[in-house]
Amino acid sequence: MKTAEYVSLEDQYGANNYHPLDVVISKARGVWVYDVDGRKYLDCLSAYSALNQGHVHPAIQKALIQQAKKVTLTSRAFRNDQLPLFYKELSEMTGYEKVLPMNSGTEAVETALKLARKWAYAVKGIPRHQAEIIVASGNFHGRTISIVSFSSEAQYRDDFGPFTPGFVTVSYGDASEIANAITPNTAAVMLEPIQGEAGVIIPPTGYLGQVKAICQSNNVLFIADEIQTGLGRTGRLFACQYENVRPDIVIIGKALSGGFYPVSAVLADNSLLGLFAPGDHGSTFGGNPLAAAVGRAALKVIRDEHLVERSAELGEYFLSQLRTIKSPHIKEIRGKGLLIGVELNPEAGGARRFCEALMKQRILAKETHQNVIRLAPPLIIDKKTIDWALPRIRKVLRMK
Ligand code: PLP
Repeated sequence: MKTAEYVSLEDQYGANNYHPLDVVISKARGVWVYDVDGRKYLDCLSAYSALNQGHVHPAIQKALIQQAKKVTLTSRAFRNDQLPLFYKELSEMTGYEKVLPMNSGTEAVETALKLARKWAYAVKGIPRHQAEIIVASGNFHGRTISIVSFSSEAQYRDDFGPFTPGFVTVSYGDASEIANAITPNTAAVMLEPIQGEAGVIIPPTGYLGQVKAICQSNNVLFIADEIQTGLGRTGRLFACQYENVRPDIVIIGKALSGGFYPVSAVLADNSLLGLFAPGDHGSTFGGNPLAAAVGRAALKVIRDEHLVERSAELGEYFLSQLRTIKSPHIKEIRGKGLLIGVELNPEAGGARRFCEALMKQRILAKETHQNVIRLAPPLIIDKKTIDWALPRIRKVLRMK
């Protein structure tokens, strides 16, 4: 079958809640993907940063296959021999005492929200069912009803009420708004250190540090959603480390499996994750041996291949080269590590047509919101490949 046939089949039988580019991928290796018509493309999306280690990384693939031959699922009614090692390795790498594994990023966010509420009632002494959690406008934390309850994006929210109460929204990037929004019932502040889905929005320097200090002095938890920014994407293991901030709770997902399998986790110290009692929370698949083995291998690749340092170094190079491109369409180019956003002027006609033109140049990128092209290749990319991509990106950004 050819591209057009796959597209029409998908459109006929699939729900209409995505707007993919019409490239039908059938194979991938490293930073490259191949379509059913034999064309080769550079992946500059990395499945929204789930593929930091690159596609089909051989070491993760090996771990997946080996584990799949042994045992894949035990449920948490029994123990398995992979999970304790995953816990230990993740804890040693991140410096948090405890781990609670889930599957999707969204589930891990829900888990963190439940943990913050439990802490609010059990430790802080907030009257039951009165806890408030402060979030930022422009946030993206997932798509469940509770999470879209505090989305500021009309399309994500408006048709899906009634909503979950207990969330207060402030503007992103202004710590004084958080200070003003805190009440005796505030349990937590939850933020993305860089807002990826909002268009790679980087808050002012000092913001995260100020927020953490405000939280600390008000006995409020600071939760960082590092699902997209974490595990090396921004040139640090966690983007919060740019400001030496250690959140009380960190949420990770995506690259925790290197793109093989949904694996997410909530990280915190014992004083928090020790609050959950048996039965408080759970998931049939969360922490299964296949996920744990894949997670262990994915973390090992990040360590062994120095992906954090690579991201910092190559991100700086990519960003500096992109900034040399002169085009009337460009409003701003910003980024940290290999999480880069090219914001176009409103008159440019929207980022979508540029992504379609990039596809013709054999580069896959996706618009985020109306006017931003996100460039986020796997962290294993090398300078030579960036140099291959740059003239193509330049050509597209300079088109009429
Ligand atoms: N939080 C952030 C910051 C994200 O970028 C995403 C996904 O893009 C999510 C949460 C949701 O993760 P998932 O799609 O794995 O449920």
